[in-house]
Amino acid sequence: MEKIEAGNGAGRIHPRIIPLGVERLPQGNHRASGMVLRRRDISGKNQELLLFLNGFGAMWVSAPGSGRSNRFGGGTEPMTWGVFDLYQSPRRIYLKGVDIREFFWGVRKSKRSLDTAVKWCIELSSRLPTGHESDSLLSLLWGSMKNLSAGVNHLLIDARFAWRWGNLWGLAPSLDLCQCCGRAIDITSSNMTAMSRDGFVCGACLSEMKKRSESSTLRGQISAEAVRVLRLAATIPREGFIVWAKSDEADAAALANLKQELRDCASWFYSLL
Ligand SMILES: [Zn+2]
Repeated sequence: MEKIEAGNGAGRIHPRIIPLGVERLPQGNHRASGMVLRRRDISGKNQELLLFLNGFGAMWVSAPGSGRSNRFGGGTEPMTWGVFDLYQSPRRIYLKGVDIREFFWGVRKSKRSLDTAVKWCIELSSRLPTGHESDSLLSLLWGSMKNLSAGVNHLLIDARFAWRWGNLWGLAPSLDLCQCCGRAIDITSSNMTAMSRDGFVCGACLSEMKKRSESSTLRGQISAEAVRVLRLAATIPREGFIVWAKSDEADAAALANLKQELRDCASWFYSLL
């Protein structure tokens, strides 16, 4: 099976950017690589798919004949990665064919990985504007699906995905600085830090807020150790991430004491999008 690397452009087939304000593609044939995010039944025989495509972003397409005897095979299954042949008619855009490149079996065979990937599809479906390319985010999705498929712990990869998505949109909190005082967050102390609507709150500011009875406005507290692991999970480059994520240190963090904190942080990152 040929590998498509969304991040290095290998999966790009006729890159086209839809101009802002233009909802419809030019009439005719189009071809792009990407992933199925959602599928909904229109009738017994027809379905509509929300595709996330290189050069095009998210778009709904009609998939005639994708019902019980599906002529597209597994090409209309959510989380399938492929090259999609489309036709834009005067009224709507149709799916003509799918060249499946990656079915992500490694994700589908593990319940936790599958739950994580389904969550990504739901989050993307509800937040992505249609008709605007988001190739950096598609590249992040590709790398995250590959890591998930390779058995990386779902909590680590989910926190990484959520923070990096926020970072692409300029909405991720700084993992280094306190949003109240601007000082570096001390990850060597045993002081707790906290999550607020605007970013991390350092231990010193958290103490002050507690004295002034203002801590109830915070989303929750988080240990310095969890901040340290989050920094690594979120910022290690793709090549080194899988090695770190499968190390004993990361494994212990994700599997034991930091489980709930990683979960809370990922939810917090999504809430900021
Ligand atoms: Zn502070």
